[in-house]
Amino acid sequence: MKKISALLLALTMVLTPLTGCGSSSTNGASDTPATRDTSADIVVIGAGGAGMTAAIQAVQDGATNVVIVEKMPITGGNSVRSTGGLNAAETKYQERDGIEDSIDLMVEDTMKGGKNLNDEALVRTLAENSAAAVDWVNDIGGDLSVVGMFGGASVKRIHRPTDTSAVGPMLVTTLNKKVKELGIPVLLNTKAEEILVDSNGAVTGVKVSDAEGTYTINAKAVVLATGGFGANPEMVVKYKPDLAGFDTTNHKGATGDGIVMAEKIGAAFVDMEQIQTHPTVNPTDQTMYTEGVRGNGAILVNKEGKRFVNELETRDVVSAAILEQTDGQCYLVFDQAVRDSLKAIEEYINAGIIFESDTVEGLAEQIGVDPAALKETMDQYAGYQASGTDPDFGRESMEVPLTKAKFYAGLCAPAIHHTMGGVKINTQAQVINTEGNVIPGLFAAGEVTGGVHGANRLGGNAVADIVVFGRIAGSGAHAYVMENGGTTEPVIKAATGTGEVKPEVEANFKDGTYTGVGQGKGGPITVEVVVKDGEVVEINVTEISDTKGIYENAVEGVIPQIIKKQTTEVDVVGGATLTSQGIMDAVAKALEAAK
Ligand code: ADP
Repeated sequence: MKKISALLLALTMVLTPLTGCGSSSTNGASDTPATRDTSADIVVIGAGGAGMTAAIQAVQDGATNVVIVEKMPITGGNSVRSTGGLNAAETKYQERDGIEDSIDLMVEDTMKGGKNLNDEALVRTLAENSAAAVDWVNDIGGDLSVVGMFGGASVKRIHRPTDTSAVGPMLVTTLNKKVKELGIPVLLNTKAEEILVDSNGAVTGVKVSDAEGTYTINAKAVVLATGGFGANPEMVVKYKPDLAGFDTTNHKGATGDGIVMAEKIGAAFVDMEQIQTHPTVNPTDQTMYTEGVRGNGAILVNKEGKRFVNELETRDVVSAAILEQTDGQCYLVFDQAVRDSLKAIEEYINAGIIFESDTVEGLAEQIGVDPAALKETMDQYAGYQASGTDPDFGRESMEVPLTKAKFYAGLCAPAIHHTMGGVKINTQAQVINTEGNVIPGLFAAGEVTGGVHGANRLGGNAVADIVVFGRIAGSGAHAYVMENGGTTEPVIKAATGTGEVKPEVEANFKDGTYTGVGQGKGGPITVEVVVKDGEVVEINVTEISDTKGIYENAVEGVIPQIIKKQTTEVDVVGGATLTSQGIMDAVAKALEAAK
C-alpha cells in the first residue's frame, strides 16, 4: 500500500486570537493591547514536534483550554526536517523482528554517545517511555513500524515509517491532523516575546506579538517548546566560537528565543556549548543525507578515494574526521542495493545532488577522484563485508558489499545540526531555576531543553525526546492546571476552515474537497483543495519532498494568493520557482474536477 510521505501544512489554520465571541474586530481604534488580551489554561510556545505533542497529550488528559503559539507561518519547526526516526527500546516491533534490546542498553548507548555528560535520570526517562512513544504516535494515526540500525546504537532501535521515508513529515502531518481534530487552536505568525511570572516566580502567561501588535495570553501553565538555536549564528558562536562560519541544517525559526525568554525569568541552563554538527550535509544546498544511508550500507571516502573513519561512529567523531580531509569534505558512496533500501535517497537524487554511474571507475571520474584508488577501496570493502570484519576502522554493521550497479556519490561536509544544551528540566519536564527550584507552572520539552543528549545526540533520539518529553510536559501542565483552579472553557477558538486569508473575488467552483498532484523540484507535490460556497477556502499541502526552506517560502507565497484571487495564475516565489509552479499545477489539477 502506498503510504504518502505527507507534510500537511497548517497554513489555513491561521486564527484570530480574540476574547469572547468570534465576531469582535481586531481592526481600528479599538485594537489596543488591552482589548486583545486573552487567556487559556495552558499556552504552548512553539508548534514543532514537542509543542504539538504536549498540546495533544494535555487535551487527551482532559485539558479543555489549550492554545499553541507559533511564530512561523507554518507548523513543524525543525521536526519536519527530521529524516531518521524514533529510537525506542523493548517495542513490539523489535520483538517482531527478534531484536533483543533493553531499557538499560538504550540508557548505556545514549550515555556513551553523550560522553556521560547527559543527565542520567532524563536518559532513563527517555528510554523507559520510548516504546510507549512509538505506540502513541501510531495510535494518533502515525506510522512507525520499520526498525533499523543507526549510529551509536548497539542494536536495531530506530523506528521509521513503513515506506522508509523521512520521519519528520510523517510525524508533523500526524500531529497537525490530531491538533486539528482535537480543535486545539494554533496561532500562526504569533511570536512569544516574554514569559510572565508573578512575585513568587510562578508563571502567569505569555506576552505575544503578531502583525497587529502585542498582547498577553494569561495562563496557568506554559509549555516552552521553541526548539534550538542552530539558526542563530551569533548565539552559536557565543557558546562555541569554533563554529563560526558553519552552515546549518536548521529551519530559520530556530533562533533560541526560548533560551532568551527562560533566562529572563531565572531558568538554569545546561551544556549550552554542546552543539552538534551533522556529518553528512551537502555543502551547496544544505540537504542533509540521513544517517540511514550509512546505516543501510554507504561508506565515506575522501577526495583521494580512501575511507577514513568507521562511518557508523557517532556524529561528533565522523564530523571531526571529515574536517581533517582535503577541503574538509568527503563523498558518501553507495550502490543500487542501498538506494533500493531507503526511500529518502530518491529525494536527494531528485534534487540533483547525487552523481551516478554504471561503474565504480565512472563514478570516480565524475567526482574527480582517482578511479584506481576508488576501485581499490570498494573492492577491499566488499571483502571486509564478506568476512564481517573491518580491520581498518572496526565498522561492525556492513549491510551490503556495495557491488550492485549503479554506483552513487554525494558530496558532504558537516553543518550545525542540533543544540544539545538548553533549559534545565527534571524528569517531569518542569523547568528548574538557578537556585535549583522548580519554576511553578513552567514546563519545557524538545530541543529547547538540555541534559538528555549530553555532549552528542544520537540519531533517532531527538524524535524520541520530543515525543517522550512533549507528552510528559503536556500531562504535567494539565495536572498543574488541575491543582490550580482546574480547567475552563476555551476562550481562543480554533478556526473552522477559512482562516485569515479570504477570497477577494467571487468564484463559481463546485463545493467539495479535491486532490491534485503537481511536480516540484524534489518530487511530486500533492494538495487538498476545499471549495465552500463556490470559493476555494482552504489548501493543504499533503505531500511535498522539496528540500530546505524552499517549500516554506513557496507555500507561504503562493497559497494565500490563490485563495485571495481564486485562480492558480499567480506570481511564483523568487528562489522557489519550481516548487511554486508545482503547487499551482497541483491546485489547478484539483480544481479541474470542481469546474
Ligand atoms: P522541537 O523539535 O523541540 O519540537 P522544533 O524546531 O521542531 O523543535 O519546533 C520549535 C517551534 O517553535 C518552531 O516551529 C519554531 O518556529 C517555534 N518557535 C521558536 N521560537 C518561537 C517564539 N518565540 N514564539 C513562537 N514560536 C516559536
